[in-house]
Amino acid sequence: MKRQGFVYIVGAGPGDPDLITVKGRRCVRRADVILHDRLIHPGLLTEARPNTLLIDAGKRFGHEDQQQADIHNLMIQYAREGNTVCRLKGGDPFIFGRGGEEVAVLKAAGIPFAVVPGVSSFTAAPAVAGIPLTHRDYTHGFLVITGSRSTGFDSAEWHAAVELVKTSGTVVVLMGLARLEAITTHLIEAGCDPATPAALVSRATWPDEQVRIATIGTIRHQSMGLTSPAILVLGKVIRFGKEDQFPA
Ligand code: SAH
Repeated sequence: MKRQGFVYIVGAGPGDPDLITVKGRRCVRRADVILHDRLIHPGLLTEARPNTLLIDAGKRFGHEDQQQADIHNLMIQYAREGNTVCRLKGGDPFIFGRGGEEVAVLKAAGIPFAVVPGVSSFTAAPAVAGIPLTHRDYTHGFLVITGSRSTGFDSAEWHAAVELVKTSGTVVVLMGLARLEAITTHLIEAGCDPATPAALVSRATWPDEQVRIATIGTIRHQSMGLTSPAILVLGKVIRFGKEDQFPA
């Protein structure tokens, strides 16, 4: 009888291959096929068995929807052939990663699957920079939003972000580096104090990680030379952050 295929949707963590979960690593080692994002550490892929098929499913700007459809088709095709498929995604698979769409497609196709959570960059990047997202003396909550071009500032999330920044809360912005000037200008025009602390953490947990600490008014001048992926953190908790790097 033909072996039943299975898809594991696995969070690879923020970069450092040691930051995948034990369960996630087990899926990488067991897979017949690995469909991986662009930002997966090569050291993690060397964990795969020698005969595992590795497919780079990284997105190229401007072709995202077609590539997402291709990923869906490949997952279904390989699972139907009886393979154990590991869909390896950066951070946590359900944080701004279209993981929800992948699960919906698998469900509709009747393919058994499991989701293995990952360490998201939204917690990892502030953490390695020494920035606690919550602190009992400053804030009791935080908001994670996307700064990408595809969502405008006139959205519930951005209205909430402005309110939170105004009241000393913590806001974490993913995919915001390319739009940093527009984001900080919007916050100031919306009434946020330009002196509110702001931090950028670029390539967190990778060997070339960089941390810049400034204010909403000045952070864009501090962003020179930083590369994606990067996270923007806003709020008083940044006072605990450290710019210097310590060996892991
Ligand atoms: N699912 C991923 C996020 C995908 S969206 C997660 O849970 O982390 C891609 C965005 O994540 C990037 O634009 C950047 O804002 C953030 N990101 C991912 N890896 C990062 C890293 N190592 N350092 C800083 N930001 C990172």
